[in-house]
Amino acid sequence: MIGPLPSSTEVCIVGAGPSGLACALSLAARQIPFVIVDALAEGHNDSRAVLMQASSLEALAAINPQLSADIVATGIQSTVLQTIDLQERPVFRLRMTDIAAYTKYPFCLLTPQHKVEEQMRQYIGNKIHWNKRLVDLKEDGSKYELQFESGEVLTARYIVAADGSKSHLRSLANIRFLNPYTNMESSPGSSSDLSFVVADVLLSSPLPANIPRDTLQMMVGGGGVVLTAPMLDTTSRSSNLFRLYLGVPDTPPRNPDAAYLQTILDARGPGSHLKTHSVPQIARVLHSSRFRTRPALADRYVQRAKGGGAYILLVGDAAHKHGPAGGQGMNMGICDGVSAAQAIDEHRNAALGEGKGRDAVEIMDGYSTRRRAVAREVIDMVEGMTELEKGGAGWIPYLRVTALWMMFKMPFVNGMLAWKLSGLGHAKKP
Ligand SMILES: Cc1cc2nc3c(=O)[nH]c(=O)nc-3n(C[C@H](O)[C@H](O)[C@H](O)COP(=O)(O)OP(=O)(O)OC[C@H]3O[C@@H](n4cnc5c(N)ncnc54)[C@H](O)[C@@H]3O)c2cc1C
Repeated sequence: MIGPLPSSTEVCIVGAGPSGLACALSLAARQIPFVIVDALAEGHNDSRAVLMQASSLEALAAINPQLSADIVATGIQSTVLQTIDLQERPVFRLRMTDIAAYTKYPFCLLTPQHKVEEQMRQYIGNKIHWNKRLVDLKEDGSKYELQFESGEVLTARYIVAADGSKSHLRSLANIRFLNPYTNMESSPGSSSDLSFVVADVLLSSPLPANIPRDTLQMMVGGGGVVLTAPMLDTTSRSSNLFRLYLGVPDTPPRNPDAAYLQTILDARGPGSHLKTHSVPQIARVLHSSRFRTRPALADRYVQRAKGGGAYILLVGDAAHKHGPAGGQGMNMGICDGVSAAQAIDEHRNAALGEGKGRDAVEIMDGYSTRRRAVAREVIDMVEGMTELEKGGAGWIPYLRVTALWMMFKMPFVNGMLAWKLSGLGHAKKP
């Protein structure tokens, strides 16, 4: 059993999703005292991210190589990402192996987010204070005072806001969350939001040959993406477990059933426009949900307390939000978490006069500027990919797909996109 919440700490991480967990692991490795809290009663188990990129595996391996090795063991290494059109012609096959010279992880790892979080929690040990919902915040000279729904109060010098896209901390710190293209705050559920359905399904045997078991495949051009990602099924040992991501133009039901999902596959999934293969059949839905996205970016990542040396640092979805194309959200969040821990470490050293002349305020500003620029770049990439996925009728989508097909014939274009998707560019120079 974990003990009661202490009354003070150096760093308080609010949110034990992948971003908060990554920050906790990095702080622990640096021997910086911290407390991590979450409003939930235990770790979530929903279907969310399914892709892990080399950048986040590298970031976690720098803390503990065994952690990344354990995470890799939970998934399928997709060395190619395949995109096909409605006629099942290849639009491109993105070879992740092109980045092999720069990383131990030249693949996209297909593994569900809850398994990644489970592994990270095991390395943190029994340190997460569950059932602690942050409700308010006060400045107390050079510390923040965090108030929880339970009535408990905790003071901390650094707060890491890892509390997700609806971040309460971001609101308490008066940091705006704006659409980076309009600079406007868009209200939830606005008409420009994109809807997706995410479902873990068992497909019927035999699997048609146009559904690869070792590769992520996207089918584009039908008005919304149809993505199939094979997953390791450790419980039933079936190799027909897939995560589906389906882009939908209207509002899907809250928990789409097999009939709803099958209708989409029949209309614009593999086998729908070619009679050489049949459409995969859904035997069972294990979990399904819907979600909507619109891009948003915090106008700054760091808030400094008026009293002086206390800080709030935003990480993960609390700082940025975008669609699922390219599987970037969780990865960026993990890298933010590690980066925030590094900034806190450097800031403490600078404040103690051990920072090799570095200005303490500059360190925090540097974190904000650097990670915000990364998010902006990723949002642009995701938006471009989402447009491609939508496809649709007419010359413009057709020309876009044809241009891509031609560009991918050039090896350096493949290498460049694999590099961009991996996120390594933000950590390493090629
Ligand atoms: C359906 C769906 C599909 C997705 N698919 C992908 C994908 O394919 N690829 C990808 O990279 N990303 C995907 N994402 C996004 C990815 O899941 C997020 O980017 C990732 O979870 C962000 O992690 P985080 O730790 O920043 O936030 P979260 O995972 O949201 O964690 C925030 C935590 O903070 C806690 N919390 C919130 N408020 C409080 C409070 N007041 N007090 C205490 N605790 C609080 C919450 O309980 C939660 O545990 C998807 C998201 C969804 C919803």
